[in-house]
Amino acid sequence: MRITMIGTGYVGLVSGVCFSDFGHDVICVDKDPRKIEMLNDGKVPIYEPGLDALMAKNVESGRLSFTTDLASAVDGADAVFIAVGTPTRRGDGHADLTYVMAAAEEVAHAMTGYGVIVTKSTVPVGTNRKVKQVVQKARPDLEFDVASNPEFLREGAAIDDFMRPDRVVVGVQSPRAAEVMDEIYRPLFLRDFPVVTTDLESAEMIKYAANAFLATKITFINEIAALCEKVGADVKEVSKGIGMDGRIGNKFLHAGPGYGGSCFPKDTSALARIGQDHAVPQSIVEAVIRVNDDVKHRMIEKLRDLCDGSFNGKVVTVLGVTFKPNTDDMRDAPSLTIVPALVGGGAKVRVVDPQGHREGEALLPGVNWMEDPYKAAQNADLVVILTEWNEFRALDLAKVAKKMATPRMADLRNIYNRRDAKRAGFEAYEGVGR
Ligand code: NAD
Repeated sequence: MRITMIGTGYVGLVSGVCFSDFGHDVICVDKDPRKIEMLNDGKVPIYEPGLDALMAKNVESGRLSFTTDLASAVDGADAVFIAVGTPTRRGDGHADLTYVMAAAEEVAHAMTGYGVIVTKSTVPVGTNRKVKQVVQKARPDLEFDVASNPEFLREGAAIDDFMRPDRVVVGVQSPRAAEVMDEIYRPLFLRDFPVVTTDLESAEMIKYAANAFLATKITFINEIAALCEKVGADVKEVSKGIGMDGRIGNKFLHAGPGYGGSCFPKDTSALARIGQDHAVPQSIVEAVIRVNDDVKHRMIEKLRDLCDGSFNGKVVTVLGVTFKPNTDDMRDAPSLTIVPALVGGGAKVRVVDPQGHREGEALLPGVNWMEDPYKAAQNADLVVILTEWNEFRALDLAKVAKKMATPRMADLRNIYNRRDAKRAGFEAYEGVGR
């Protein structure tokens, strides 16, 4: 198959590289010339474990290339995937479809024969039909189909998720499009990974429902965690105890500082708006959004308590600012709420993050970026673990405590426990929900 991938972000680049590894011929397009220049130099513009090696291997094989020239890339493609951003639209919480629609129109003008235009971006129900209308209007002569193929990969584990998915979801309207999609995903199919082939609207809805459900699960345990703190229960024990129930499952039950990232916040917001537009309010999702916001503010109060009621003049060391480990993505990370509250309250904030500096520099003004957690703890009043990078999972706590002015820790990912922290010399230790 000849595949064109529009957008070389976290989803487009990983999908393009993996499709080429399946044996397809893939051309990746981005309108950002700096990204394409880097890719053509063999450099990966994002941090995603394993991506550089897999990309190099497939470029070498001649199956993978990069360009800013959409027209030449689309010419002759069996399928054109749209994997551009769908951020929250300013002002109203809806998904902003400007990039998707602009890409669809460009693709329409560039197509020279039958092909399937596949939306991989996360888009509200009805978008694929709109894409179809836009293309038909631009090119009444063109023979084409549309397909919805939402992506479920997680940043930080994206290649494995793409290569070994729980399922692939494909929404189509015609057998011809279904055949093209089958051919593209055949390598997975042959290895027994299930492909759910359905209609366009159901495919679009599956993506929002999946993300909203996961966001709900996290938020549920975060709210239970707040209650655990009051009643003397340990949320880690509670998660373990409920997660063993096969109907509940043990994933996404880790209490923490609230969900963030490039998907859950914007997708829950978009789903809530879709519900309101159809007079079917998604009350659970609306509550999740509200509670998640409260969680982040509750964390700020936890930190303030550990600073004796005021951040003013305190030295606070923050370990981890990306929205989760193994990515450089800072979009909607809890750190973007918590760190500015520290800085705004007069704290001197030091930040250590293995990959967050480049993205975080502009987003977190007024902080001091450091490399080494131990040096960053020197004379600090509080250490905050905000993202559970492996680098912070096995700290020598006694060494950290010894360097600090007042050895206090807020472990917002529950990596350590009070007993060990106290034993290591911390005078105060707070986790979440324990
Ligand atoms: P991103 O912002 O990292 O990348 C989007 C890329 O598209 C950018 O490089 C941009 O320059 C490019 N682009 C925009 N318009 C273009 C055009 N007309 N022509 C060529 N290139 C264009 O976004 P992302 O994180 O990869 O997300 C893409 C979509 O996938 C979103 O809808 C998102 O919700 C969804 N998604 C993301 C994830 C994730 O973990 N990031 C997971 C599943 C689904």
